[in-house]
Amino acid sequence: MEELSVKNKLDTGKVLVIDDEQILRDGAERILTRMNFQVFKASRGEEGLKILEAEPAAIVLLDMKMPGIDGMEVLKRIVEMDRGILVIVITGYATVETAIEAMKRGAYDFIPKPYEPDQLRIVVNRAREKMQLTLEAEKLEMERKRTLADLHTSQSRVYTIIDSLPNGVLVTDTNGKVVLLNPAFRQHLGIEKDVLPGGDVDAYIQDKELCRLIIDISHGKYVDYDDIPTHELNLAGGRFLLARARPVLGKKRECLGTVINIMDISAMKALDQLRSEFVAKVSHELRSPLSTIHEQLAMVLNDMAEGASEDEQHLLSRAKEKTRGLISTIGDLLDLSRIEAGMASKESKPVQVEELLKSIIDFLGVQATAKKQTLALEIKNGPFPPVMADPMALESVYGNLITNAINYTPEGGEIKVIADMAGTHLRVIVKDNGYGIDAKYMDKIFEKFYRVKNEHTRFITGTGLGLPIVKGIVDSFGGYIDVESEIGKGTSFTVLLPMK
Ligand code: ADP
Repeated sequence: MEELSVKNKLDTGKVLVIDDEQILRDGAERILTRMNFQVFKASRGEEGLKILEAEPAAIVLLDMKMPGIDGMEVLKRIVEMDRGILVIVITGYATVETAIEAMKRGAYDFIPKPYEPDQLRIVVNRAREKMQLTLEAEKLEMERKRTLADLHTSQSRVYTIIDSLPNGVLVTDTNGKVVLLNPAFRQHLGIEKDVLPGGDVDAYIQDKELCRLIIDISHGKYVDYDDIPTHELNLAGGRFLLARARPVLGKKRECLGTVINIMDISAMKALDQLRSEFVAKVSHELRSPLSTIHEQLAMVLNDMAEGASEDEQHLLSRAKEKTRGLISTIGDLLDLSRIEAGMASKESKPVQVEELLKSIIDFLGVQATAKKQTLALEIKNGPFPPVMADPMALESVYGNLITNAINYTPEGGEIKVIADMAGTHLRVIVKDNGYGIDAKYMDKIFEKFYRVKNEHTRFITGTGLGLPIVKGIVDSFGGYIDVESEIGKGTSFTVLLPMK
């Protein structure tokens, strides 16, 4: 690199003429100046070498026969400088031997004396072009080396950052082969240091479902990030990890592999559990006194039916209604706590879903009729094989969805419940032609206490816990829930449960 930079300092516009004959020096100067060179002149070898120390002349015209140190010696010293200077020797006797000897010792070319101006022009021009090309090539080489060096440092910087991340990172290629994993990933999943990248992803991750997701992403199955599910890993010792996977996309959005980020969420889980336990405890403590208040309010209202004023009766009715609402919220909270604690399907037994749906519809049909709605059940390709589940949990799923359909559909609306087999899953669709849900609330409605407030729903009472309960139960069965809706046209919830 250093040598390159010295050579780079040579100036292709500068020529040094070393000749003891003044006429020849001046003649050469005239010709070369016309060729746009800056010309330096020396009558002796020592003088010439001195000029070269100060001036970066790229070309030297060197007379071979001079008093003092002769041309051959000057040539030797210029070559020893190792600066890439092109020396054109001028051989006074036109002896081929001297010329050959000089060329052997590193001269670039030779001109026999006496020479024609044209001869000088041609040889010097060639030397200038050669020097320009050499310098250009060296410059390019230097740039290439610099780019490579930059690339190398930025690459190692990225590696250092990935290695220092607190989150685990694993990267695979399109075949699901691991190309990189950082120390945090090894630590989270207990992978030894001597296990190097290069193997199939399932040699590093034991969770089959996560491996399948990674392979699917690597094969380009997911183009939209939002469609990629997150994955929770429940490890021994109460440790929980959250895995997020994303495709690594190329310039044309083609999939080049998958990157997986692993985060330790054990502390968050522990907090969540504490919160659930607290809610369950408080709810439990409140339920009995509230139920008592509710019953007592009902009794007071009955007893004083005649004696009380209309205002008093109205106030008491409102209080009774509010306590009923609170009792139902508490019931939902307790249900949710049970689901979150993984107790949704504790008492599994074979359930004939078409029978269960019939009895729910019989029960809720009263509410639908009160709103002049039709509530119809359609069983396609039944009877179905029984589902192993807690019947109360299943009743809660379908009951909540049908109650919502009744609540969020105006008078005279239509509600349809359709059940069929979809491959290995039992599918139940609850479809209404009610108010519908705006697309922007689609994800939110499954959050606890979330209720869409608009001119239609404002006066409908509810807890905002129905759908979280439904989703919690469906998830615990390993099923899926999906919703499609259009404002003013209606909503359709689809529940898929695996037949075990
Ligand atoms: P709740 O019904 O007690 O408010 P849910 O969790 O069951 O709570 O539902 C959350 C919200 O989702 C409701 O407040 C309502 O705005 C909306 N929603 C649920 N089902 C329907 C439906 N079938 N049609 C329109 N909106 C619905």
